Amino acid sequence: MEYREIGKTGLKSSIIGLGCEHLDGKPYEQVNETVNAALEQGINLLDVFMPGKEVRENIAKSLGSRRKDVMIQGHIGSTDIGQQYDISRDLPVVQRYFEDLLRIFGGYIDFGMMFFIDSEEDYKGVFETGFADYVQRLKKQGDIGHIGFSSHNPEMAMRVINTGLPDLLLFSINLAFDLYPSDKYVLDELDHGLDSTAFRGIDPKRAALYKLCEKKGVGITVMKTLGAGKLLSPEHTPFEKPMTVAQCIHYALTRPAVASVMLGCKTREEVLDSVRYLDMSDNERDYTPILGTLRNDFRGNCVYCSHCQPCPANIDIAAVNKYLDIARLDLENIPPSIHSHYSGLAYGGGACISCGSCETRCPFDVPIIENMAEAARIFE
Ligand code: SF4
Ligand code: SF4
Repeated sequence: MEYREIGKTGLKSSIIGLGCEHLDGKPYEQVNETVNAALEQGINLLDVFMPGKEVRENIAKSLGSRRKDVMIQGHIGSTDIGQQYDISRDLPVVQRYFEDLLRIFGGYIDFGMMFFIDSEEDYKGVFETGFADYVQRLKKQGDIGHIGFSSHNPEMAMRVINTGLPDLLLFSINLAFDLYPSDKYVLDELDHGLDSTAFRGIDPKRAALYKLCEKKGVGITVMKTLGAGKLLSPEHTPFEKPMTVAQCIHYALTRPAVASVMLGCKTREEVLDSVRYLDMSDNERDYTPILGTLRNDFRGNCVYCSHCQPCPANIDIAAVNKYLDIARLDLENIPPSIHSHYSGLAYGGGACISCGSCETRCPFDVPIIENMAEAARIFE
C-alpha cells in the first residue's frame, strides 16, 4: 500500500480507502470478510456514512481491537426516516445519530464529516444554526479528531473551505464529472468572462476547488471514482470506450490535494481487485488516451447514491433507476430477472406523485420524475 498526507492534518491515509456504503444490509460474515481484506491490504481509512445501526455495528465488530489501526470518516447529519436515507440539520436528531456512531466506534471518530453541503439551504442549515457549533464542540471535547465535510458542488465546497473550519473534503471526482462539455458550460464561462480554453477541458470551478484545497492544506478523499461503474461499462460510458478501474483511480489520485479514493467494495474480491492498481505499470494507469474522446455529457446519469431520498411515495429511487438503466440497454430483451427484481420493489415508478423533492436533492441532475414515468411504462 502507499500512503499520503491528508492535507495539513499530519495524518497519512492509504491511497485506496474503503467506502462502506455497499456493506449496508449485508450479513456480518460478508462485512467481516470485506473489512478483513481491506486491513490485510493496508487500507487504513473507512468511510461510514450509512445511518443504519446494524451496518455500523457490524463494521465495528469486525474491526474489534483493530479500531485503533484505522481512521473513520463518520458523517454528522446523515440520518434516516422510515428506513430511507435522510439528511438532517435538526440538532437533537443529528446528535442522536452521531453520538450513536461515536459509541459504536469506541468514543472517537477521526474525521467528523458535516454531511452533504451542496446548496445554499444546506449551507444555512449548517452555518446559520447550532450545527457548526456542535461540530466544533465535538472537536474541542476530543470526540472527533478533525472536521471534514462532503459535497458535490465545487462552488459550495469552496465557500465551506473558506470558512477555515474543515481539514478534509469528501468530493465526487472522476474524468466524466470533471470534463463538462455541454453548451451551457461554454455559455456560463463566456458569461463570466473566463477563457474556457485556459482550463484545457476541465470544468474551471472544479479545477479552482482542487487548487484551493491544495493552497489551504485541505485534503480530499474521493467518492464516485468509477461513476457507479458506469465509466467501466461500454454501454454507459460517455467516452468512446470504457475506462479501466486503474485509469479511474489514477485520474482521481492525480488531482491536487487528493489523499485517497474511497472505493465502495462489498466483497473480498472487490477489495483485491481495487488494490491491483498498486501493481500496475504507468502505461496501464494512463488515462490520457481517453481525453478528447468524450461523446456526450455525463450529467443526468444516476449513480445510485440515494441522496435524493426520502421519497414521500416510499420509492427506492436508486433501485428503480438501476433497473431502468439495464432495461434501456435493450428494451426488446429485458432480462426476466430484472422484471422480477423490479416487481419485488415495494413501490415502483408508477407510485411517483411528481412532488419534485428528489430532483432538488439529486446532485447529478437526474430527471427523476421522467425516469419514474418511463420505468412505470416499461415495467408496470
Ligand atoms: S437520482 Fe440522483 S441522488 Fe438519486 S440515486 Fe440517482 S444520482 Fe443519486
Ligand atoms: S418526485 Fe416522485 S420519486 Fe421524487 S420524491 Fe416525489 S414522489 Fe418520490
